[in-house]
Amino acid sequence: MDLSHRTILITGATDGIGKVLAVEFSKLGSNIILLGRDSSKLDKVYDELDSSFTSQKHLILQTDLGLLNNESAHEILNAIAQEFTSLDGIIHNAAILGTMTTLEDYELSRWDEVLNVNLRAPFLLTKTLKIMLETSTLPRIIFTSSGVANMGRAFWGAYSVSKFGLKGLAEIFANELETTTSIKVFNFDPGATQTKMRASARPAEDPTSLKTPSDLVNCYLWFFSEESSDSKQNYFEYAELSEKVAIK
Ligand code: NDP
Repeated sequence: MDLSHRTILITGATDGIGKVLAVEFSKLGSNIILLGRDSSKLDKVYDELDSSFTSQKHLILQTDLGLLNNESAHEILNAIAQEFTSLDGIIHNAAILGTMTTLEDYELSRWDEVLNVNLRAPFLLTKTLKIMLETSTLPRIIFTSSGVANMGRAFWGAYSVSKFGLKGLAEIFANELETTTSIKVFNFDPGATQTKMRASARPAEDPTSLKTPSDLVNCYLWFFSEESSDSKQNYFEYAELSEKVAIK
């Protein structure tokens, strides 16, 4: 798949799924905008990006999404607009797990942090960057869901609530944008994947029993294909989408 001249912003690009997507999309020619909170990790991922395509370039945005506000969101918009003429996609991948505890014991400050990173930041970034997505010929927004977005489960607290909220956010953006713009909005549950977050959520699990972030790449590529423009479905789970893309 040729993704040259496509500019894609990936939040939480310093580890896990986001990092693998950044590297793999760069190999297909994309300009990658790496957004993360840790500058040394961002530099390391930047060094791993492929830059061999003509006029391919990448950008680092060091931002703590938990602290994002209108001003910093507009700084991000300006930084992107200075380097690129359009934005073709946002992969809202960054998230934190928070604390695995009962709601009764949940610390308010931790609750706020999880909701800010996982839900408030994708809302604010999307509304601020929409103007740049509108200049793309095949614009995409991909939110990242989870198995705990559909059914409340004890101890998953703010993380689960944030993913329920994100489901609503994705549906509302899809409904609002797909009738008035060419922007396609997807909400994707990658399912159990071998990452730092999964290891914190399930410390007793054998990580080698899980798929790796690389196994998800074809699903994410499909979101950026022309074929997905005709999709009436906005929400996908890994099991379903991986089968669909494997048939191709
Ligand atoms: P990781 O913990 O491995 O990576 C999360 C990324 O988000 C890291 O790059 C992290 O940065 C970044 N991040 C966290 N907080 C902030 C912040 N405040 N500002 C900027 N960046 C931040 O998680 P995964 O790769 O496992 O998860 C990726 C997505 O997939 C998440 O949305 C998660 O909810 C979802 N998901 C994952 C599943 C799994 O089994 N792994 C299952 C279902 C959904 P840093 O490197 O600094 O920590």
